[in-house]
Amino acid sequence: LPKEAFVIPHHYYDDVESVLIPHGLILNRIEKVAQDIANDAQGPLVACCVLKGASVFYADLMNALRKAQTPDRKSIPFSYEFMKVKSYENDKSTGNVQISLSEDELKSYKGKHLLIVEDIVDTGRTMVALLERLKQYEPASVKVVSMLVKRTPESNGYVPDYFGFSVPDYFVVGYGLDYNEYFREMEHICIISDVGKVKYAV
Ligand code: 5GP
Ligand code: MG
Ligand code: MG
Repeated sequence: LPKEAFVIPHHYYDDVESVLIPHGLILNRIEKVAQDIANDAQGPLVACCVLKGASVFYADLMNALRKAQTPDRKSIPFSYEFMKVKSYENDKSTGNVQISLSEDELKSYKGKHLLIVEDIVDTGRTMVALLERLKQYEPASVKVVSMLVKRTPESNGYVPDYFGFSVPDYFVVGYGLDYNEYFREMEHICIISDVGKVKYAV
């Protein structure tokens, strides 16, 4: 969508090529995703935000989940968890991921229904590794909701249980997603421009 048609922060105007998903559409889609999650929930959820990219999506999703009701008018209790996840780029083996939680915190997941909240699934390697790791702590169930799924030939085939939007193979920023820590505060999901890539390169 043409950026001329949207309110873009002045300081980022030249740094985005176009608007891929406007903020209003994101919020509308989140209502439905929250409804789907509530309908499927087997019990209280531990909603795990994967920092930092998913933080903005997480806040809006939790707000929608709080209001969501199942067809029989039940609401879903959930608790909050936050984790940083570091995957090892040059290692394709699964399970090779570092989670910023103590062993005691991870052990407390035993018997719980986990909902992992991620920003974007690209190759799928991070998620496969994270799921492999979490299963060692014997949760009752683990489901994943990702705001975005990228259509890329690099995909390992992993598809999250829920996602907001499928997006083409561009580098996207905004709504929590960063390029070297920039753009997270922009409300729309946008495609970065060449000017932006150069300006914020490290
Ligand atoms: P994967 O392991 O699925 O290849 O990578 C997932 C992570 O890479 C995401 O959680 C995100 O942090 C980062 N990533 C992948 N594609 C994009 C993108 O288009 N934009 C941004 N900002 N981050 C991305
Ligand atoms: Mg992420
Ligand atoms: Mg990032």
